[in-house]
Amino acid sequence: MAKTKGLVIKEQTVGESDRLVTLLTADYGLVNAFVRGAKQLKNRLAASTSLFAYSEFSIYQGKDANVVDGAKPIEIFFDLRKDIERLAVAQYFAQLAFELANEGQPEEEMLSVILNSFHLLCKGEKAIIQIKSVVEFRLMSLSGYMPNILACANCGTYETDIMYFDTLEGCIYCENCQKIGAIACPKNVITAVRFICLTEPKKIYSFSLSEKNLELLSKISEQYVLSRIQKRLPTLEFYKSVKL
Ligand SMILES: [Zn+2]
Repeated sequence: MAKTKGLVIKEQTVGESDRLVTLLTADYGLVNAFVRGAKQLKNRLAASTSLFAYSEFSIYQGKDANVVDGAKPIEIFFDLRKDIERLAVAQYFAQLAFELANEGQPEEEMLSVILNSFHLLCKGEKAIIQIKSVVEFRLMSLSGYMPNILACANCGTYETDIMYFDTLEGCIYCENCQKIGAIACPKNVITAVRFICLTEPKKIYSFSLSEKNLELLSKISEQYVLSRIQKRLPTLEFYKSVKL
């Protein structure tokens, strides 16, 4: 591995002054690499290897680990740090990518979903919960966990005014087959889920819902993620504790 563009999605301090960073890259998926002497003042790699930095990395294979040799910043996403809610949700997206991306195989679209979400968070024009739902459903779909949202899981009906999303089973039911525990959703929320999971990558944010329905969408996408990942996500808990 010589050069690759990557987004820093995790960082840990190791020993006195080294840092281990995890990069999400288009070509190699997750890549772990050490930044030597990262804590020293005026380290030339400090900004380009900080959390959420998207940089062009030169990496060499050391004796037993990858080491960052150089990193040229492309986008630092500084505005993510402007308020705690945006920062918290960005940390959650980074953790989701860490949990779902593969090592050693391309993750081009996942990287692009996360980069786009960071751009949108920085701009501050789209509702944070909309960005969150899109990232949740799209990342799950990319990782082989697309919910079965084409039609009622029981009778095959495409659409009724209200449909029921079963976040545990990852499927939907129509009005006539409604199931206990499944969440009632107006059909435009179901349409939004279908859109997020199935449309071409560039368009995933091109839909609008009322604030109330965005809340509902966010509830089902989040419950669905938790039902599939099956572990605590401290970054999600933190986001929910600071959410306005
Ligand atoms: Zn049905």
